[in-house]
Amino acid sequence: MDESLRQFEDIPGVVWVPPPEEFITVDRDACTGCGDCVRVCLASVFRLREGKAEVARLERCMECAACFFVCEPGAVDFQWPKFGTGYRSEWG
Ligand code: SF4
Ligand code: SF4
Repeated sequence: MDESLRQFEDIPGVVWVPPPEEFITVDRDACTGCGDCVRVCLASVFRLREGKAEVARLERCMECAACFFVCEPGAVDFQWPKFGTGYRSEWG
């Protein structure tokens, strides 16, 4: 495993709740493969495969929406997940 990836155990006080449904998708036709979503995501949710971005680990998403705003071609579709959040912390 990539040593640069954050592990759940490295973030004490945070519990990730499995997403109730898919809430981030990538339009592969619109994606230019620039990698901005990969770089901006602190949770390492995205990866590049065959020159396109894809959602690899949605369960780690912290719902910051940075991937949505950083994607200039508008290839990332982000919807706030229904029925709760993807993670919760002890500090609110
Ligand atoms: S930021 Fe958008 S265009 Fe760039 S790799 Fe990610 S999805 Fe593709
Ligand atoms: S919303 Fe934030 S944490 Fe979730 S995939 Fe996008 S950049 Fe990563």
